[in-house]
Amino acid sequence: MDDFDRHVDDIYNILGGKVDRETIAKELRNWIVNFKVPIIEAKRSIVSKLGGDPSKLTNNEKKVVDLGPNDARVDIKLKVITINSKEYELDGINRKMYYGIVGDETGTIPFTAWKLDVELRKGDCVEVKNAYTREWQGKVQLVFGNNTKLSLLPPNSVNVKTTINPAKIVELHPKMGFVEVVGKILEANPKEVMVDGVPRKVYEGIIGDDTGEIPFSAWDIEVHKGDVLRISGAYVRTFRGMPQLVFDPRASIEKREENIDVREIPVTLESLEGKGGFNVLVEGVIIDVKKGSGLIYRCPECGRVLTSTICPVHGKVTPKPDLRIKAVLDDGTGGMICIFNREQTEKILGIDVNKAISIVQENFGNMMVIREMIEEKLIAVPMRLRGNVISKEKYGLTMLVRDFDFINLEDIAKNAENLLEELGW
Ligand SMILES: [Zn+2]
Repeated sequence: MDDFDRHVDDIYNILGGKVDRETIAKELRNWIVNFKVPIIEAKRSIVSKLGGDPSKLTNNEKKVVDLGPNDARVDIKLKVITINSKEYELDGINRKMYYGIVGDETGTIPFTAWKLDVELRKGDCVEVKNAYTREWQGKVQLVFGNNTKLSLLPPNSVNVKTTINPAKIVELHPKMGFVEVVGKILEANPKEVMVDGVPRKVYEGIIGDDTGEIPFSAWDIEVHKGDVLRISGAYVRTFRGMPQLVFDPRASIEKREENIDVREIPVTLESLEGKGGFNVLVEGVIIDVKKGSGLIYRCPECGRVLTSTICPVHGKVTPKPDLRIKAVLDDGTGGMICIFNREQTEKILGIDVNKAISIVQENFGNMMVIREMIEEKLIAVPMRLRGNVISKEKYGLTMLVRDFDFINLEDIAKNAENLLEELGW
């Protein structure tokens, strides 16, 4: 029985045979291959999705690929790839901490050790009990703390796979570990920042390929707008609710002579779950227009939406009228709240904010009238939206719409017809 079957069996047993192995295997493959979710997390999600209790999943020994940002207890067998030490002072006593990279056959991870039971050298294989993980600069780190027990294993008993996953930009996810992308620098702005009292240069900007765009930060590396680069050994972190590509001189970077056509293809909402997206294109149907859409009044000082002339912060104010839409778009794989600003709302409604005010007045102050007008224009209407999508655990996906378009169903039918003709049908 291979590992995959073993995981399917775990899930099957917890569900008490209520769901067949084939369904479970299909789900598991989908989560791992398409969503690039670590196996332990995938298993938990599938068990709870299929009505089981995910806490029944036992995971005594983990693999690097399974490690999440806040694992409280980690038992794992590792090989030391690099190890460095650093002296520091605490309570007047000189102490030493260690840091470096460890790995197993599923991948590599940085570690920090505040204490070492045994002296570790590069190349040592070690069994670790009761370590924990934390997130630092958006990247998972393994920590050997006071309660961590280490014992040396026979040499070469752990093999290391330096996993560098080749990926298209649209696929990039913080859980992927090291990645390799080929992309074109669309924007690059140098910045100097102080890190531990040392000035360091970082370039921030946007890189794109034929599937999409992503913001990046490049540490101690010069990049220029227009460069086409193959970056191998970068990683993805979540920054302000969206993915960001990070790399430094440890990555291997090669300048390419070829050009890349940067374009966006529509992404599925499912693929944005848990990571968000930068300037992405989404196609779907508006299924709901939420409360708070239409004519609203805001505090002129702080922009809060007010229901009276009293701002909780600024007291009595003269509220400023505004228009906005909070709608829900469904693309068949998931839902997303999309927020249209005043200008976009005016375009959708075909009226400006003053006209909206007079319509409300004509209806004896009933603000719902505007929301109903929006519902009439948008509900069940297919749209193509572009913008930044923020993923927050509590609220799901939210897009601040940058551009929108109504999808013309006739065009779609026409395109399909043309395609069939080309194919000779
Ligand atoms: Zn205010």
